[in-house]
Amino acid sequence: MSVERESSRTIAQVVSCLDGYDPDALPVDKARAAIRACLMPVADVESVLIRQSLGRVLAQDIVPAINVPGHDNSAMDGWAVSSKDVSFDREIQLLEIGKALAGKPFHGTIGAGECVRVMTGAVMPQGADTVVVQELCRVDADRISIPPGQKAGQNVRAAGEDLKAGVPVLRAGQAVRAAELGLIASLGIAEVSVKRRLRVAFFSTGDELASIGTPLQEGQVYDSNRYTLHGMLQGLGVEIIDMGVVRDDPAKLEAAFREAAARADAIITTGGVSVGEADFVKQLMAKLGEVLFWKIAMRPGRPMAFGKIGSGSGSAFLFGLPGNPVAVMVTFHQFVRDALLVLGGRTDAVEIPLLQAISASPMRKVPGRTEYQRGILFRDGAEWKVRATGQQGSGVLRSMSEANCFIVLEHERGRVEAGELVGVQLMDALA
Ligand code: AMP
Ligand code: MG
Repeated sequence: MSVERESSRTIAQVVSCLDGYDPDALPVDKARAAIRACLMPVADVESVLIRQSLGRVLAQDIVPAINVPGHDNSAMDGWAVSSKDVSFDREIQLLEIGKALAGKPFHGTIGAGECVRVMTGAVMPQGADTVVVQELCRVDADRISIPPGQKAGQNVRAAGEDLKAGVPVLRAGQAVRAAELGLIASLGIAEVSVKRRLRVAFFSTGDELASIGTPLQEGQVYDSNRYTLHGMLQGLGVEIIDMGVVRDDPAKLEAAFREAAARADAIITTGGVSVGEADFVKQLMAKLGEVLFWKIAMRPGRPMAFGKIGSGSGSAFLFGLPGNPVAVMVTFHQFVRDALLVLGGRTDAVEIPLLQAISASPMRKVPGRTEYQRGILFRDGAEWKVRATGQQGSGVLRSMSEANCFIVLEHERGRVEAGELVGVQLMDALA
C-alpha cells in the first residue's frame, strides 16, 4: 500500500458529508475541499545528505543542539567596551589592550578603562557588552577616544539570536528551500530525514492524438498535454512517470490505469472525461476503484474526475483532467498542484497566494462560476494593473504562454468594469 492509512470511509461517503456538495455544479472551493478531505499523504521516509534535501519535504523536526551564533559577537568593526565605562554625555578615553578577529578570540578580560579592537564576527571579549563603530572613534596609538551618545549593548549580536538550542526551528512537513538548507547547515547537521518523493504517473487519452516524431494524419493534433504536465510536475519535485498516449480503447485504457496504479501514488490523465466520452471511462473506473465525475462551476475546465483506483499491488489517487490544453493547466494549478504537495507530506501553507490588482479593461463574466482568465500584470506608474491576454478559448494554449498571471474572477462575480480590483495569481509563484 503506497499511502499512509486506509480510510475506513469511501470517497463518496467523505464528500457527501461536505456542505453544499453537488457533483453536477460543484463550486471550485467545494471541489478543493472534497479532494483535500480524501487525501492520505505518503508515509515512507528516507535519510538524505543535506544537499539532496533541497525541494524535499522534511520528515523530522529540526531542533538545534547548539546556539547560532554560539557566542555574543560583534556586528561591526570597532572597539568592544564595557557599558559601565562609556559615558553617555561626554567623550572618554580607553586603553586598547588587545584585538579580536572573527575566528580569533581575545582571551583576556576587559577591566575598567580598557577596550579591545574587534572585527565583525569576533567573539565579544569577557567584560565587554557594547561595540563602538570605528568611524566614530579617534585613535592615538593605544588610546581610543569614544564620543558621547553610545547605547549599552549596541552593535552586538547575541548568542542564539538566530537559532536557540532546544527550540524547534523547522517542522516535519515543511519544504526545504535554499534558506532551510543554509539553516540546517548552520547547525552542523549533515543528513536529514525527508518524505519519499511522490510518484506521479500521467498519460494522455484520445484517438486524435499524435506523438512527436510521427507525421500528422488528417484530423490529428500533436499531444501537448504531456509536455505541459511534465513542466508543471517538474516544478513540484515529484518523480515523473510519463506513460505516453493511450487510445480511447477500453482494454488499452484498463491496462494503462492498472499499470499506473501499481507504479504511482497519483495518476493524472487528460481527455476522456467530457460528456460524450465519460460513460465508458466511468464503467472502467467503477471496476478499478472509486472515482467521482464532477462538473465544476469554473471556466475553463468544467469536467473533472477524482478518486482512487487500485490494482493488486497498489493504489493511487486519480485526477482525470479535461483534454483541452488550457483547461489542463488551469485545473492542474487549481486542484492537482496543492493535492500533490499534500500527498507528498507538506503540512504548511501550499495555496497559491491571491493578490489584488486593478483591472485595466472591462471583462465579461456571469455569476455562478469561477473564471481563470489568462492575464498580464503590468506596472502603470505607481499601480499594478492587469489585462487579459487576447483569445481566451480553452484550446488556445498561446494564452497561457503570453500570460504572467491568472485573473481569478470569483464565483459570485458578474461583469468587471475597468478600474475594479480583481484577484490575480502569479504564474512564477506556481511551482
Ligand atoms: P476531450 O476532453 O478529450 O474531449 O478533448 C477536448 C479537446 O482537447 C479536443 O479538441 C482534443 O483534441 C484536445 N486534446 C485532448 N487531449 C489533448 C492533448 N493531449 N494534447 C492536445 N490537445 C488535446
Ligand atoms: Mg478525448
